[in-house]
Amino acid sequence: MDKNLYLVRCGEVALKGMNRPYFERILLERLKKALSCYSETEARWKNGLMLVRVDASVPAMEVVKQCSKVFGIASVSPAVEAPKDIDEIGRAAADFMQRLIDEEGIKTFKVKGKRSDKSFEIQSPEIGRVVGAIILKQCKVLSVDVHNPDCELYVDVRHEGAYIYRDKIKGFGGLPLGTNGRGMILMSGGIDSPVAAFMMAKRGMTIEACHFHSYPYTSPRAQKKVEDLLAVLAGYMGTIKMHCINLLPIQEQIVQNCPEDETTLLVRRFMMRIAEQIAIKNKNMMLITGEDLGQVASQTAEALVVTDKVVSMPVMRPLIAMDKVDIMDKAKEIGTYDISIQPYEDCCTVFLPKHPVTKPKLEKIEESESRLDVDALVKAAVESEEIIVVNPR
Ligand code: ATP
Ligand code: MG
Repeated sequence: MDKNLYLVRCGEVALKGMNRPYFERILLERLKKALSCYSETEARWKNGLMLVRVDASVPAMEVVKQCSKVFGIASVSPAVEAPKDIDEIGRAAADFMQRLIDEEGIKTFKVKGKRSDKSFEIQSPEIGRVVGAIILKQCKVLSVDVHNPDCELYVDVRHEGAYIYRDKIKGFGGLPLGTNGRGMILMSGGIDSPVAAFMMAKRGMTIEACHFHSYPYTSPRAQKKVEDLLAVLAGYMGTIKMHCINLLPIQEQIVQNCPEDETTLLVRRFMMRIAEQIAIKNKNMMLITGEDLGQVASQTAEALVVTDKVVSMPVMRPLIAMDKVDIMDKAKEIGTYDISIQPYEDCCTVFLPKHPVTKPKLEKIEESESRLDVDALVKAAVESEEIIVVNPR
């Protein structure tokens, strides 16, 4: 089978001292899994770089996209290789450029040589000059432009051979999935929580999700939207387990027994308690939310303090200091935005108070809650969970 070569670079994994082999092994496993949809794919480490070979009939950009979805990967380049002989390198580089002329009409170029193997007799700037001259001889339509070329060609002479490539297409970076504990994301259908889940997974955390609905006040379609969001995230992190809980019985108790302006905050405290119980049962060590300081009444500093008082598990809020526009940009980049903006109601909006408290006092909130049988309500909610397994689509 004819195969194309890709150079895949890791980011932070390279900074791991003694633990580097462990991270490299997991990263390679993740990469192989992401590429398992193609037959006879090869992937291996070679002197700090991953060399990947995939069936040549698969479009290069498709392979690049698959690779760059793997957390821990900094960049990917479609490449060709040549033996460590300057004439052979020149010929391979000229063939490579000819393809770019045919496909993209490239007219100007520049070669950047690099001699990673110091025993190679020609030094980096000279590699660029010699290879450039061979290209010019073979590809008559091309000229050199060192300031603003149509194509910048890289030639890297390493111990095992020479690689010729053009683009370094950026991956998401981060650390390989599964190297940093397990977390439970409280997942609404909004813009923020999918981004929060993504950011923690990008740091290597395995993610499980818990979603609250108020059926029949919220529609099955609203829950389907959350499943759709998780399916997009599963494209990065593999199958995700989703715990669905009907919050309506608790919301009704709150509405009947507690001050209206405290509704949202009281609901959020119940969400945290229930999520913590489910997290413990499933061996998750942290809760994750998409909260962002000051974005809405329940996300003021005071409200966050009061929310956190009901759980002992650490609560991660990776978006806490981000601006909404930046969160929206991130959602677009990872592919969740278009689903998030579909207009389906969330359980938080079902009993939305007109003027929610923005500076809640813990004693007052606890006094309101004392009118409810908190433990029994939480227990019943946890026991009523439905589990959905969401696969990548
Ligand atoms: P998002 O865009 O993530 O919905 P938001 O800005 O709408 O966030 P809130 O509705 O106040 O903010 O929710 C804050 C956080 O609480 C969410 O990011 C999410 O982690 C959690 N949350 C809200 N609604 C739900 C829900 N129905 N199920 C699970 N978690 C939820
Ligand atoms: Mg929301």
